[in-house]
Amino acid sequence: MASIFTRIINGEIPCNKIAETNNCFAFLDINPLATGHVLVIPKREVDYIFDLADSELAELMAFAKKIAAAMRTTVPCKRIGMTVIGLEVPHAHIHLIPINNVDDMNFGKPKLRFTGEELELIAIKIRSAIK
Ligand code: 5GP
Repeated sequence: MASIFTRIINGEIPCNKIAETNNCFAFLDINPLATGHVLVIPKREVDYIFDLADSELAELMAFAKKIAAAMRTTVPCKRIGMTVIGLEVPHAHIHLIPINNVDDMNFGKPKLRFTGEELELIAIKIRSAIK
């Protein structure tokens, strides 16, 4: 069965899309740790990120770099933190999170709550800052 992220890529499940290329896709995390928390994924459904081919991983990182640059100009923060966990969804994904201190990357913290409209407003801002 297709992963929930493959179904998002295919448009079967809605998301707040940020950008896509032939091989990569970025969208807002539905349960964000911070405003503007983005997930960057390969379109090819691979569970463990280090099972991607070197070229796929390099392409994903370059794509993440572009999204992080747009996030940084949009969301007030010191920098964009990056982490990979992957214990919940078996489709490789990079978390990009606007941070001001190390605790902002603490996945044990309660998640933020936004309405669909609020999430889409954040997505529009990040999308429009992509170069
Ligand atoms: P991890 O697998 O890295 O532990 O976490 C998976 C992440 O995917 C979580 O932060 C969770 O909020 C996010 N997530 C899970 N299901 C969905 C979904 O249907 N839509 C979106 N946008 N994010 C999701």
